[in-house]
Amino acid sequence: MEAPLQAALGAPSVRRYLVLNSALFHFILAPVLYVVVWCAVFSTLHILVRDYWVLCLSVSMVSIFLTTAIIFVLHHSNKEINMNVDVRLIQVNERLVKHQLLVAVADWVQSCTGNMQLYFVFWDMSRCLRALTETLEERSSVEDDAQNKMKRNMSHLVLVTEDAAVDPEPGGSDVEQDSSEQRPLLRHEDTGCSTSSSQWEGAKVSTNYSLIPDASLPAQAKAYQLLMTYSAAYVRLLVSERLPGASHYRPGPRGNHCSDAHLCLCQYVHNKILR
Ligand SMILES: [Zn+2]
Repeated sequence: MEAPLQAALGAPSVRRYLVLNSALFHFILAPVLYVVVWCAVFSTLHILVRDYWVLCLSVSMVSIFLTTAIIFVLHHSNKEINMNVDVRLIQVNERLVKHQLLVAVADWVQSCTGNMQLYFVFWDMSRCLRALTETLEERSSVEDDAQNKMKRNMSHLVLVTEDAAVDPEPGGSDVEQDSSEQRPLLRHEDTGCSTSSSQWEGAKVSTNYSLIPDASLPAQAKAYQLLMTYSAAYVRLLVSERLPGASHYRPGPRGNHCSDAHLCLCQYVHNKILR
């Protein structure tokens, strides 16, 4: 399993991203940001405000507000699916789920120490797959309801990749010939599940891949794709105890099948996409 993980997270750019977006880096960033913002606002306002104490007070208030807003935005963005880490782990999780495991990169600060690690979680996907498939089948009776919600909530999940320009193989792509459920969501390191557009630029071709399941897929294949897409994001939030509150969504007629968390993976996907 080392090779797929190395392919997903081993690139220097990904490692750099992980460091610059770690909880420890944000922890160090906050006071540095406060000082920088304080100096910037002070240099702007000292011409306008003559009273020294009023100046210091107003500069401090503005700096606290701006720093808090930036840290809040960074903290909030960490709760969403991360295109540079979570999406890269889709392919690894597709392999691991056959052994009832899911992996994610989670990190948080504890006692002023960063805690970034790979976390492997035992997960039986079959019950989530069954529950989400039933939900999608129910929704399919309402005209385009589920597909419209997926388009609305997943429209920002677009991968842009640059590949070396090669002539397409004659006779069409083998992806279309594979069963939609069996083929990997990501064909290799970066590529997504469905091509939406391609632009030739010299020797390289940049391609956009959307993570929205194709409307023509059966409900089970759509459910599998959605569960895989959000698997790493879910595990990251689960192990760092940052999952959103409990859901009113009942996963199938058998009720809640998840005993490890207050919010199951299928409930998380339902709340993110189908609500
Ligand atoms: Zn579930």
